[in-house]
Amino acid sequence: MSEASALRLPHLLGIRELSAEQIRQLYELADRFYEVLQQPTRKAPALAGRTVALLFFESSTRTRLSFELAAKRLGADVVHFSATGSSLDKGESLLDTALNILAMGVDLVVVRHKGVGTCHFLARHLPVPVVNAGDGTHEHPTQALLDTYTLQRHLGSLEGRTLTIVGDLFHSRVALSHLILAPKVGLRLRLCAPPTLVPPLWYRLGWPVYHRVGPAVEGADAILVLRMQRERQAFPPLASWEEYARFYQVRLEHLRPGQLLLHPGPINWGVELHPSLQAWPEVRILDQVTHGVAIRMAVLYAILGSP
Ligand code: ASP
Repeated sequence: MSEASALRLPHLLGIRELSAEQIRQLYELADRFYEVLQQPTRKAPALAGRTVALLFFESSTRTRLSFELAAKRLGADVVHFSATGSSLDKGESLLDTALNILAMGVDLVVVRHKGVGTCHFLARHLPVPVVNAGDGTHEHPTQALLDTYTLQRHLGSLEGRTLTIVGDLFHSRVALSHLILAPKVGLRLRLCAPPTLVPPLWYRLGWPVYHRVGPAVEGADAILVLRMQRERQAFPPLASWEEYARFYQVRLEHLRPGQLLLHPGPINWGVELHPSLQAWPEVRILDQVTHGVAIRMAVLYAILGSP
């Protein structure tokens, strides 16, 4: 048995808790599961008999389906909870809701919630492992892992490579997870956003912060573009979206051959990305989605699989 198969994680609440070695092992497991996903049956039933509950209190397309497929490809049963139409409307607390779902025989919960720290709270109070699928503006660890895994598959080693992140840094949980992940995998970051969308402390982290797209992406190996997180912006951080698109939209003229283009989705074409970039030869956005299933299989296996 290889080292990667022996990787054991108690939960996955954030990138902070992962060592560089554990991240390497997760990528190695993901490589193996990626191969499984190329086979006609796409199954590696290492979690047969286990049950995974997907507790999504916020909207999701990719993350929810990707965790569901990851669990099913590993042979686990999957149950879904969505806040709309649940007994939360009748005043049931988050913890009671989760405990009731667990009472039906669940081995792991994947949680998305608008509250920062919800996953940490549940991990303290539930008797099963918790995986963070996005907690408010805090972290989205599997997204950052699948982004960097995608980069690694295309670039080889990540050591010394430059990733420019452009967009709503202030409200993006994806950006924060990348900030913590980059030093662990040897990536160099560049950050680009309007001044009102850069958390003030981020200027002190040592990564260059830009307020113009051109210089921010020049010479970078890859560009990760983020959506305006309008649902989290209590006050409009900009005069207008047209102005944002005018000054911060990533366009063909900014890119050079070979630069990889990533986006965690959902994309607002015409706002953060010019529609002509759909034809950019190095768009890796759907690869991210494909790799997301392999990464989430790796995470579920590292938590629930028996060594
Ligand atoms: N899907 C990602 C998230 O849930 C990015 C986004 O929504 O813009 O954070």
